[in-house]
Amino acid sequence: NTSLHELDPAVAAALDAELERQQSTLEMIASENFAPVAVLEAQGSVLTNKYAEGYPGRRYYGGCEHVDVVEQIAIDRLKELFGAEYANVQPHSGASANQAALFALAQPGDTVLGLDLAHGGHLTHGMRLNFSGKQFNVVAYHVDPGTGLVDMAELEKLAGEHRPKVIIAGWSAYPRQLDFAEFRRIADEAGAYLWVDMAHFAGLVAAGLHPNPVPHADVVTSTTHKTLGGPRGGIILARSKDFAKKLNSSVFPGFQGGPLEHVIAAKAVSFKVAASEEFKERQRRTVEGARILAERLTAADAREAGVNVLSGGTDVHLILVDLRHSELDGRQAEDRLHEVGITVNRNAVPNDPRPPMVTSGLRIGTPALATRGFEAEDFAEVADIIAETLKPSHEAEALKARVKALADKHPLYAGPTK
Ligand code: PLP
Repeated sequence: NTSLHELDPAVAAALDAELERQQSTLEMIASENFAPVAVLEAQGSVLTNKYAEGYPGRRYYGGCEHVDVVEQIAIDRLKELFGAEYANVQPHSGASANQAALFALAQPGDTVLGLDLAHGGHLTHGMRLNFSGKQFNVVAYHVDPGTGLVDMAELEKLAGEHRPKVIIAGWSAYPRQLDFAEFRRIADEAGAYLWVDMAHFAGLVAAGLHPNPVPHADVVTSTTHKTLGGPRGGIILARSKDFAKKLNSSVFPGFQGGPLEHVIAAKAVSFKVAASEEFKERQRRTVEGARILAERLTAADAREAGVNVLSGGTDVHLILVDLRHSELDGRQAEDRLHEVGITVNRNAVPNDPRPPMVTSGLRIGTPALATRGFEAEDFAEVADIIAETLKPSHEAEALKARVKALADKHPLYAGPTK
C-alpha cells in the first residue's frame, strides 16, 4: 500500500508538475479536454487488474460478473446518447477504433476515399505511413482553397471515377460542419459504405449542437477524450446491427486482446455526464468561445498583423488561424503563445508553402477552457491576448499576467485529484 510518492518519487514529481502545468496555463489544443475527477477515479480503479477478453456475457475468463455490469452500462448509455443500435466501447484509442472499423468494411487493397491529411484529415484516413495508407488504395479529397470548405464536387467526381469501397467523412482540423446527407448520397451513388469519424465533434453531437452522423453512416467511430470530455479511448457505433458481428470480431480478436475495463468504466461515467444539462451548457460555451476567437482574429488589427481565420469563422469548437501573410510561421506562433502560457498546436493550412514541421497556421480549440468554466467575456479576453501576442511587437510579461489572471479566475482540479 505504498503511495506513489513514496514508491516512485521521480514519476510522482513529473505527475505533480503536469498537474501544475494544466492548472497554470491555458490549454487550447483542440483535441484536449479535462476529464472530471469521477472519470479519473474510475480510470484509476481496481478494474485495471481484470482480464475480460470477449464481450459482456460471453467472456473467455472467469470473474467477469462486475466488469460485465460496467461494460453493459457503457454500451447502453452510448447507444442512448447517439441514437445507435450498436455500440462497441472496447477500442483502446481513436486510431484502434478506426483500424477495426476499416477492416470490418473493406479488405486490404480496396479503394477508400478520405480527406487529405494536409487539408484537415486524420492519419488513419489514409496517410501513407499509417496502416490505412499502407494497406489500402487511398484516394484523397480536399478542401477548396478559396472557401476552405470540403470540395463536395471533387468528392463526387472522385467517387464516380474510383468507385471506392468506403468513403470516410471526418476530420482533425476543420472549422465547419459536414453535410452527412450529401456524403450518404454520394456514397450510395458510388456503391460505397459511409464511415464517419466524429472524434472531434462527438461532444457537440451529444449536446445537440451538431448534426448527428449516426442516422446517415454505416459506421461511426470516435474518441472519448476530445469534446466528449472522457478518458482517452475509442468507440464504434452503428445505426443498425447489420455490421455488429463484423465490428465486434474486428476489435476482438481482430486487433485487440483484453479490453481496458478501467477505461471502459471511465467511459461509462463520461457518457452519463454527456447526457446532462450541465454538459450541454458547457458545449454551448465551447462553440460560443470558438466563434468569439474567430471574430477577434479576423478583426482589422489582426489582419494588419497578417493574421486571418480559414473559412472566415467556425461552426464548431476550433478555429484554424492562417499565418501565410504574417511575419510568424506556425512554429514561431506556437512558441510565442507558449511563452505567455497558452498551449496550441501549429497546423498546416491547405497548400501550405512551408514544410509540415513548420507550417503556416495554428489550430486553436475551446473545449478545455469551457470545461474550466470560461464564459463569453473570458473567451473575449483570451482572444485579445492571442491577437496581441501574434502582433510584431508584444509585451510578453503583461500578457503572461493576463493569462495568469484568467487561470486563477477558473481554478482547475481544485480538490484532490491524486
Ligand atoms: N480520428 C480523428 C478525427 C482524430 O482527430 C484523432 C486524434 O487526433 C483520432 C481519430 C485518433 O485518436 P487517438 O489519438 O486516440 O488514436
